[in-house]
Order: sequence, then structure tokens, then C-alpha cells
Amino acid sequence: MSGADNVIWLGAPAFPDAARTALADTRQRANLRRATGTIRDKRLAVAAELEDWEELRERAAAVKRSTLRHLDQHLLRLEQAVTAAGGTVHWAADAAEANRIVTNLVQATGESEVVKVKSMATQEIGLNEALAEAGIRAYETDLAELIVQLGNDRPSHILVPAIHRGRSEIREIFQREMGAWGKPAPEGLTDDPRDLAEAARLHLREKFLRAKVAVSGANFAAADTGTVVVVESEGNGRMCLTLPETLITVMGIEKVLPSFTDLDVFLQLLPRSSTGERMNPYTSLWTGVTEDDGPQYFHLVLLDNGRTATLADEVGRQALSCIRCSACLNVCPVYERTGGHAYGSVYPGPIGAVLTPQLVGIEQAASLPFASTLCGACYDACPVKINIPEVLVHLRAEAVEAKRAARLLPTPEALAMKAAGAVLASPRRLAAAQRLGAFGARLVARDGRIGALPGPFARWSGTRDTPAPARESLRAWWRRTRGDGDTPQGSRTRGRPGENSRTTEEGERR
Ligand code: SF4
Repeated sequence: MSGADNVIWLGAPAFPDAARTALADTRQRANLRRATGTIRDKRLAVAAELEDWEELRERAAAVKRSTLRHLDQHLLRLEQAVTAAGGTVHWAADAAEANRIVTNLVQATGESEVVKVKSMATQEIGLNEALAEAGIRAYETDLAELIVQLGNDRPSHILVPAIHRGRSEIREIFQREMGAWGKPAPEGLTDDPRDLAEAARLHLREKFLRAKVAVSGANFAAADTGTVVVVESEGNGRMCLTLPETLITVMGIEKVLPSFTDLDVFLQLLPRSSTGERMNPYTSLWTGVTEDDGPQYFHLVLLDNGRTATLADEVGRQALSCIRCSACLNVCPVYERTGGHAYGSVYPGPIGAVLTPQLVGIEQAASLPFASTLCGACYDACPVKINIPEVLVHLRAEAVEAKRAARLLPTPEALAMKAAGAVLASPRRLAAAQRLGAFGARLVARDGRIGALPGPFARWSGTRDTPAPARESLRAWWRRTRGDGDTPQGSRTRGRPGENSRTTEEGERR
């Protein structure tokens, strides 16, 4: 199984098709609107409390930029520090290698089940599926991940993977599925959030107390001390990170920070940007192993899986600065309407639209850079100042190039652009095309509007409300009222500025 196979869900339709299906799901849209709106408001309120918020963002962006520039050195320092503290570091070039390493480590303990802390990296590599193939059952312990796992579903948000589910749906999933995975849901379970949380607590507790092996991701790792950090809200992470004998952490190589003191910046930015809280309820930090305290065996798997290739792209590499706060998802008008599944990747929303195509190759996810209005809200919200619109435009160019290179014949769009270029290069051709276009458009117009056009224009006209062109073009009007030799363009260079702008506006109004 390749890294590309794992990041993009196999068989997932391209974004436009998946989005069309998602848009028809009114219940999901209502759930998303409510949830993203709530988180958005909370984030704005707590960010406004810090006078140095913008300065923090600048510092975080600078740390990430400089870390990526010397990533190899920081990773080697991290390996040294973790090893010196009693841990073991493994290097995984791709998803298959990472899965093999983790599977072997679990098998070496003799265990056939693991508890998991919420982790994007392990979702990216399809670890649960790989473990299942080896006869090892992985239990998700984050509440939202539990809902996704029990519902045989896919996460749709970085921070709130079950954001697309309402309370009544969650109750149904718990009642139907919990028994097959362990302790069943209590009799008479209601959809009150407290009842649902209690059901999850009871279901998970026996797993925490029994588990000998835990698997986690990591939010950060400090290269100078070898300290690994996981932040979470429910305490399930703390249970997984402290109770089992063996802890295996799978971490993308971009998560390393040069120094423990850098956490000062990121631990202020992350909770405020993600959940709208001043600090995370649980922030777990550990350095290697400590005798008779916590896991006695610690393995850190450093995952590449497309990150080195991303690093080579000077524009695109900024996506590796992401701290997975999900602020960009919560402000994105496209995400709010389509939800996360439409992106066909474990990384949805604006960050997914720039990260996934780079991790798996643009050919595998060519539609994602176009899943954006380029409104820039993501850039404004991002705590590490990733210029997502810039990367989107950059990747769009790559997608077009890749498409062009893969085709023997030019696309209809390329032909249309070539024809437009030829028309625009000649005033006579432009005038003729305007006359022809206006005549044709008036033929298909109804009630002053152009309705559905046939053939390749159908998708364009189906999503736009276009007024029919004026009976007379500006050029023709000008010629009729000002004389033949005095075109708007010619007059603009010769006449008085005020006069020209007035007459052009008049012409446009017509
Ligand atoms: S791109 Fe920025 S806003 Fe989006 S998840 Fe990453 S850090 Fe957060």
C-alpha cells in the first residue's frame, strides 16, 4: 500500500462531484453551520483577548519557517535526545513502512489490541486497517473518533471528526454498535450530551484499564530535549499516554520544533485557534521513559510520506507549518457547505486542499486546489500565517500543467482560450465576435437572461445568472453617436480623462 493510497480514500470521487452530493444533505449542512459558527465566534473572542496575538502569529510563522529550512538537523537532534532519554526512534519513508514498523512493535509485545489517541498521522497512513489485517484491533478513545469508528464512517473535520453527526444520530450509533466493540450502550440512552459522554466513558474505561499498548500522534516534539507533546480536551489521551506499558507515537517529520521554549508560542496559539479555549484541558508532555512511571517502552516513528517532496517546493512547503488547529476549516465558506468528506482525504478544508495534493502528487488530487473561492479567510485565521490562497493558486497552475502534459490533444478549455487570444488580438475580429456573440446570446435569452446553454457550456450556464447582452455594443453605439473613426479606445488616448470616463460609463450602462 502506498502513501498515496492511504491519504486519498480509494474510490473517492473528485471534489466537484462529491461536493454536489454533500450539498444535497441539508441535515449535514445545518450541523456544520451550527458547529463551525460556534467555534468561530469562540475563537474570535479569545484571540481578541491577547494584545500580542499578531505578534504571536508572526513568531510562530518565523519559527516554523526556520525549522523547515533546517529540518534534517532538527530531526537528528530529536533522535539523539529521545534515544538518550530511553526511547527508540524509527524512520518511516512512507505509509507502508510506518504501518509495518508499528505492527511489528505491537506484535513484539504479544498483544492483539491497542488503544489510540486521536491522530491525523495514523489516519493518513491507514494504520487501523493495517493493524486489523495483522489481527490487531485498534480502539479509538477520542469521543468523536469513537463515533466515527463505531459508525464505520470517515472523519470530516480535523478537530471534530464527527462534526457532521447530530446528537440523535450519535445515540443511534452507540445503541447499535457499542455492544460489538465492548461494553454496550446503557439501556434507555438519551441524546443528552451528558448521557452520551457517560456512555462513551463507561465503554472506554475498561479498554484503558486493560490496554498494554497505546498508539498516539504528536502535536509537537522539542528537538533539544526530546520532549513529545499531545494536547487534547477529554483526558482520554492522558489515559493512553500514562497507563499502558508500551507507547508508540507516529509523528509527521514537520512537527519538530527546535527548542522546548518554542512551545511558549504554540501552546498559546493552538487552543485559542482550535477550540476557542485559553488553554487545553489536557497538555501531556513526556521525555523518553521514566522508571516505574508511565510507559516503560517508548517508540517514536518519524513519518515522511510525501513531506520531503513537499519541502522541495518553495511555495508549497508552507503547508508543512500547519499545526492542525482547524481554524481555516471553520471560516471557510466552501467547507461549511460541503463538509469534510467531499475533500476525499483525512485532511479536509483549505489546509487539505493544499496539503493533500502535495503529499500524494497533484495528479492524484487535481480537483482539490480548485475547492476554494480564494476569499482569503483561511489566511486571516491561520495562527501560523500560512498563505493558503497563494499555495492554492500555485497548485492550480501545477494541476493545469499536469493535465496538459498528460493529454495528447488540447482540452476544450485550452482551445477556447487559444481562440479567445486570436480574437482579442485583432479589433476587427473582436468587433465581429461581439456582433455574433450578442446575436447568439439574444437568441437563447429568455426574459432578459441567458438560461441553460447546450453542450460543454451547460455546466457554466447552469450555475450562473447571466443577463442577455445589450442590443447594441459599446463599440457600435460609439460609432453611431461619435462617428466612425473615433473608437472608445482611440478616444481614450486622445480625449480629456473626465470626458472619457463619463462616456465609457454611459456606454457600459447600455
Ligand atoms: S492551515 Fe493554519 S488554520 Fe488551517 S489547520 Fe493548519 S494551522 Fe490551522
